[in-house]
Amino acid sequence: MSYPRIEIDLTKIKNNTRIMVEACSERGIEVAGVTKVFCGHKKIAEAMIEGGVSILADSRIENLRRLSGFSQPKMLIRIPMLSQVSRVVKYADISLVSDLEIIKGLSKQAIKQNKLHKIILMIDLGDLREGIFYEEDISAIVKEIVPLTGVQLYGVGTNLTCFGGVMPTSENLSRLVDIKNKLEAEFNLKLNVVSGGASGSTSLFDGNKLPKGINQLRLGSSLTLGIGLNDEPIEGLHHDAVKLVAEIVEIKDKPSVPIGEIGLDAFGLKPVFLEKGIRKRAICALGKQDINPHHLIPYDSLIEILGASSDHLLLDITDTEEQYSIGDKIKFHLAYGGCLSAMTSSYIYKKFF
Ligand SMILES: *Cc1c(COP(=O)(O)O)cnc(C)c1O
Repeated sequence: MSYPRIEIDLTKIKNNTRIMVEACSERGIEVAGVTKVFCGHKKIAEAMIEGGVSILADSRIENLRRLSGFSQPKMLIRIPMLSQVSRVVKYADISLVSDLEIIKGLSKQAIKQNKLHKIILMIDLGDLREGIFYEEDISAIVKEIVPLTGVQLYGVGTNLTCFGGVMPTSENLSRLVDIKNKLEAEFNLKLNVVSGGASGSTSLFDGNKLPKGINQLRLGSSLTLGIGLNDEPIEGLHHDAVKLVAEIVEIKDKPSVPIGEIGLDAFGLKPVFLEKGIRKRAICALGKQDINPHHLIPYDSLIEILGASSDHLLLDITDTEEQYSIGDKIKFHLAYGGCLSAMTSSYIYKKFF
């Protein structure tokens, strides 16, 4: 066995997916399973498909390419780069878009590749990441899209809780449904999809606050980590499908405050220390090159994470009831960002079971 490693329980991910897909389909919502945090790993896609997702979604075209073998439609959920439209048309069936020049690029490529590429026009409801912000700009862009061939305006969508942390509400999501209805009337067309956001939007299932008309959600963290709005655990889901395991390479008693004049640490910051006397410290072979220590939560809640340098994770193990020795393994829950970087690090082994 090699360490550090991330351990992923596919059965738990499949079960989470099944529960979320059921909750969605009761409300007439299709689920796009988002694989980006797992770098588009085929095993994650497979677990999501077994759990019932109807679309595979990822932010990177490289990841969608990896998923080419699956028959489900692929959706690119980061707005495409102009320089990649050819690959977008090749490896994705649907993409989220916000810019006319890029849409025209997709149209040209789709004609060239003899395909019909579906586009979901993103509307910015206030989170200030991607999407059209001013309502008058929406009609203007749709007017230009309608005559294009090669692309089909498949729906409208939005993204919340990301850059601005704006929470989904029945008010802001109703605006999205209204926009869809207005466009259908104004341009005499049918829009199939109203893509109402990510895992955070499922918080509106309680009390039936999700507006009627939202018929697609793009779910990642709820299916894999069992978390939703504000990273809060969703009841009934597994929250431990993913864990990180690291190995102890040193255990020694040491003072809690460094000896000598304190300058900058390895990352250019001035560290601050609390005087707690002599403490028992452990070092794990894991560092900031792999993961931000703030994204790690020890299973043993009596372990305190002191911090990390590029390659060393420092733990205070004075208060734990376990007797740790060199070579022992420490388990951590991973927050969203931790999962993302652990999957991306080529120094962390991946174990699926
Ligand atoms: C990452 C992402 C999602 C999935 O978000 P979760 O919170 O993990 O469910 C959905 N849509 C877009 C556009 C994304 O970038």
